[in-house]
Amino acid sequence: MPAQLLDGNALSKKIRSEIAARTAIVTAKGVKPGLAVIVVGENPASQVYVRNKVKACEDVGFYSILERYPEAFTQAELLNRIAVLNADPDIHGILVQLPLPIHIASEKVLEAIAPEKDVDGFHVANAGALMVGQPEFKPCTPYGCMKILENIDYPIRGARAVIVGASNIVGKPMAMLLLQAGATVTICNSKTRDLAHHTKDADILVVATGKPKMITGDMVKNGAVVIDVGINRTPDGKLCGDVDFDAAQYVAGWITPVPGGVGPMTITMLLMNTLEAAEKYSKA
Ligand code: NDP
Repeated sequence: MPAQLLDGNALSKKIRSEIAARTAIVTAKGVKPGLAVIVVGENPASQVYVRNKVKACEDVGFYSILERYPEAFTQAELLNRIAVLNADPDIHGILVQLPLPIHIASEKVLEAIAPEKDVDGFHVANAGALMVGQPEFKPCTPYGCMKILENIDYPIRGARAVIVGASNIVGKPMAMLLLQAGATVTICNSKTRDLAHHTKDADILVVATGKPKMITGDMVKNGAVVIDVGINRTPDGKLCGDVDFDAAQYVAGWITPVPGGVGPMTITMLLMNTLEAAEKYSKA
C-alpha cells in the first residue's frame, strides 16, 4: 500500500482562500496588506521564486511590489532601499530573496529589515523569539511543514521527530516548532554518524539537505510521516526532493511529493505572515 500523499497544493488552496477572505476584511478597514520583494542579480531560480511570490500576492488581493536590481547593486544601495521600505506605511512585509551576490553580506541585510516587517522570520530578533516560544513570524518553510502535519490526524505530541538538515532557514526553526509542539526532536547534519540509525527511528522525518534522493526507502520507518523539503533539478530537467520518493512511498504512512508538497506551502505561509503583519498594523 503506498503512503497517503500530503498534497501541498490542495492545502495551500484552502489556506489561501482563508487569507483572501481576511485580506478583504482588513482592506475594508483601510489597510491593504503590502509585500515588497527585492531580488538582486540574475539567479534564474530566484527570478522564478520572486515571480511566483508576487503572483500569489495578487491572487489573494495584496498590494505587492517587485524590485529587481542588477548583480552590481551595492550593499549600501540595498540597505538604503530597505530603510525606505521600513518607513513605507503601505508595506507590511519585506522579503529579500536569497542568495544575494557574494559582495553583499546577507546577515547585515536581513538584520536591516524592521523585525515587524520581517515576514520571512530570518531577523535574529525573530529567530530568538521563536527559540523562546514566542514567535512573531515563523519562517515560512517550517511553518508550512507544520501546517501539513497539523492537517493530518497524527499526534505530534510525544512523537519522535528527526530533521535531516540544520540550516537557519529550515532545519533549526523546524526543530523549534516541533519541539514546541511536544515532539522529541533530533537534528542531523552532514557530520552525523550512522544517519540511517536516526532516520529509521523517526515517526516524523523532515529532510532539508539539498542532496537529491539521499534518503532511501530503507532509511524510513514503517508508517512514518515523511516531509521532503528538498528541491533539486535532475539532469533531465525534472524536479526531485531529498527523499527517494519512489521507494519511500511504500514504507511511509504519509509523504509529501516534490513538486507539490512543501513548495506551495512556503509561499502560502509567506502570505499568512504578511497578512498578519498588516492585521497587527491595522490594530496599532
Ligand atoms: P543548506 O545548504 O543551507 O543546509 C543543508 C543542511 O543539510 C546543512 O545543515 C547540512 O549539514 C545538511 N546536510 C547536507 N548534506 C547532508 C548529509 N549527507 N547528511 C545529513 N545532513 C546533510 O540548505 P537549505 O536548508 O537552505 O535547503 C535545503 C533544501 O531545501 C534545498 O534542496 C533547498 O532547495 C530546499 N528548500 C526548499 C524550500 C521550499 O520551499 N520547499 C525552501 C528552502 C529550501 P551541515 O550543517 O553539516 O553543513
